[in-house]
Amino acid sequence: MPTEELLKFAPRPTGAGEMFQMLRDGQPRTRADLAAVTGQARSTIAARIDLLMSAGLIAPAGEASSTGGRPPATFAFNPSAKIVLAVDLGATHAHLAVTDLSSHVLVEREEAIAIADGPEAVLGWVIRCADELIAAIGRTHADLVSVGVGLPGPVEHSTGRPINPPIMPSWDDADVPTILSRHFDAAVLVDNDVNIMALGEHRTAWPQVDDLLFVKVATGIGAGVISDGQLRRGARGAAGDIGHVATATGSQVQCRCGNTGCLEAVASGQAIAAALREVGLEAQTSADVVDLVRAGDLVASHAVRQAGRDIGSVLASCVSLLNPSMIVIGGVVADAGEHLLAGIREIVYQRSLPLATQDLRIVTSQTRRRAGVLGASAMAVDHVLSPAAIDALIV
Ligand SMILES: [Zn+2]
Repeated sequence: MPTEELLKFAPRPTGAGEMFQMLRDGQPRTRADLAAVTGQARSTIAARIDLLMSAGLIAPAGEASSTGGRPPATFAFNPSAKIVLAVDLGATHAHLAVTDLSSHVLVEREEAIAIADGPEAVLGWVIRCADELIAAIGRTHADLVSVGVGLPGPVEHSTGRPINPPIMPSWDDADVPTILSRHFDAAVLVDNDVNIMALGEHRTAWPQVDDLLFVKVATGIGAGVISDGQLRRGARGAAGDIGHVATATGSQVQCRCGNTGCLEAVASGQAIAAALREVGLEAQTSADVVDLVRAGDLVASHAVRQAGRDIGSVLASCVSLLNPSMIVIGGVVADAGEHLLAGIREIVYQRSLPLATQDLRIVTSQTRRRAGVLGASAMAVDHVLSPAAIDALIV
């Protein structure tokens, strides 16, 4: 076999960026540990450690225990080296957080906003608020390496632009990354809110689960797909948009997308509230629905359970397609608790093959209201700490 062919099968040499990925778990390691794992010379490892130390990305972490002689020094990830800004924008609500490089929240703020006010007004507010938060923890723009943003509509991930977003028409094709990077002088990543919630929930609560479906049930309904441990966005970023899948009930309820009988039109918080108003109950929002269920209202509980069944019928198809081992239900309506889950479980277990449901768990979100900012932070951190980004930073 020619040498070139042989080289293809040789272990790929790991650069400093790739070696750094091993340290992101926060565990202290010695030079010998890293040499053993990478199969590289101690001198190479030592040089890379020096580079990562001078960039502030790793720091000495004490001495390893030794059976004799001088104990070797250990090194660990230094997540406080830099900060990222995490922005979770909803239709009527915004959540901002500044985190360190392990997505630990350092400071956060939640406020009511109207996304319909448009990108200039809303992003102007984000900038003012972020500057206050960064100053409040004694950091500056020089410490900020990236910004992650979640928007409540379809986002073309490659460009970070919202595309025909139904609840935020004035944002169509808005260049969110350019508007924000001009002010912060940092990389800006944008995704839809459900994708970042899926990422936040997965990284924080279920990092060991490789195949997970996160479903947000709120004013709208959407899903984020984690497959083989990775967030899957599809060709253009629209994967998981299950809110506009036709439900099996044949409902003629009009959906805001123009079609009829969409899952969102029959089972979202808005849809449940509308159904409850028709029978004389006071319910305007998803939160009102949850309040009624928590107060023990039987009609509201029944409506939420039925919404769960409708969602379950769509999720049964998702289970057949993706075979997740966990479905996590988040969003405001998930606060209605067991009634929603019971409806979803009833149909998913009934309509999926036993092999697909054998180990399937259906649970409510652990990260709850923080899912969005945790995911926005994870997306922003992944971008700046990728092997390629680290190699570019320290050469
Ligand atoms: Zn629709």
